[in-house]
Amino acid sequence: MTTPSLTTTRLLRAPRLFCADDSAPTTHVEHLRRHGPLPAVVGEHGRAAMLTTIEHSGLVGRGGAGFPLARKMRAVAAGASTGSPVVVANGCEGEPASRKDVWLLTRTPHLVLDGVELAARVVGAREAHLCVHRGSAGAGTVRRALVERGKTEGFSITVHELPPRYVASEETALVHWLNGAEAKPTFTPPRPFERGVGRRATLVNNVETLAQLALVARRGAEWFRSVGDPTEPGTLLLSVSGPPQVSQVVEVPTGTTVGAALAQVGVDLEASTGVLVGGYFGTWLRPDVAASAPLTHRGMHAAGAALGAGVVAALPATVCGVVETARVATYLAAQSAGQCGPCVNGLPAIADALRLLARGPWDESLAPALDRWLSIVPGRGACRLPDGAARFVVSGLTTFAADVADHRADRPCASSRAGAWLPLPPVQSRSAGWR
Ligand code: SF4
Repeated sequence: MTTPSLTTTRLLRAPRLFCADDSAPTTHVEHLRRHGPLPAVVGEHGRAAMLTTIEHSGLVGRGGAGFPLARKMRAVAAGASTGSPVVVANGCEGEPASRKDVWLLTRTPHLVLDGVELAARVVGAREAHLCVHRGSAGAGTVRRALVERGKTEGFSITVHELPPRYVASEETALVHWLNGAEAKPTFTPPRPFERGVGRRATLVNNVETLAQLALVARRGAEWFRSVGDPTEPGTLLLSVSGPPQVSQVVEVPTGTTVGAALAQVGVDLEASTGVLVGGYFGTWLRPDVAASAPLTHRGMHAAGAALGAGVVAALPATVCGVVETARVATYLAAQSAGQCGPCVNGLPAIADALRLLARGPWDESLAPALDRWLSIVPGRGACRLPDGAARFVVSGLTTFAADVADHRADRPCASSRAGAWLPLPPVQSRSAGWR
């Protein structure tokens, strides 16, 4: 895949998360000039009032699960009896097709840090951690931004760089790593909001959620609700790609259809055979289904997909969907943390079958086994890697059914069998470090 330089397109009359000059990180002075100071949250009354504002805004987590932020914060604040709560900002962008988090961290680090600080004040935390993958461009930008801001009495934010693995961005993996262990997911319960860093109640939120929080705190619930779908208001950051040569991070109102989001950045849906929504844990949709599917949790669910990491990738018709599905399945199989049998054994078996289907010659006796593996791996891991991988593969086999039929019959399919369109980092061996 040729990746054009990353630019943004202003889909909103007044973009909310992007800064005025999106070519360089915002300094703290510029940030305060644009957004104004962060409102004070003083005492129990101040915390309760801010929680009410967040609740009325309807802000839900932007990390994939879509959980209401106010409810999560109340649960963490209620767990303060186990010690001072902790806030964790998740900027580990494990999803290879996503670039929105690093975009935020490198362009508007102060908005994210404001969100971290505000979340800490609301839940009563004195300690916060901002996690990025090792080598992420966001680490340096955020560290410099922290120096600019200076010390805050009685409160600290520490930046951590975790191993750049797909499942290391899962919230239990972050907590496990911060507790001194490997960045591998752990079985739940307890979830981090119950018992997390240092066995204390821990609020883990994606950096986009925290940036949105910083805006809600300043401008209020009604302002936040004035854009987007009334039931899931606000805006979303998306990593959009597709033919002819588009690869951009964009901010769209929730409820925008996938077709509209693609069209506004110049992606030609007519030249695509499938749209991947959500990321590699996500779902391939037929272009006609994607075109009218609204970008909300409810809309995606109705289309058989999920918002996930905010990836919208339209596959060019010249690229084979079977080959691409096999490439990603192989990558996902290599991302197993090696802890759960169905994941350790099932995902490589699925990936092997997919590679055989993609490259040929196909062995028809594998078809029932592939169906069986795809049905038994979901729901049987500590994290959702097996579920996501199975969903991704099943949706690929369905969306590219005509190509699958050609591959099974060892006929040339409609597109080239050349792959390598979706971005994939180098596969690390399972024995490579998790610290
Ligand atoms: S399901 Fe796989 S990736 Fe997730 S914890 Fe288990 S072994 Fe690790």
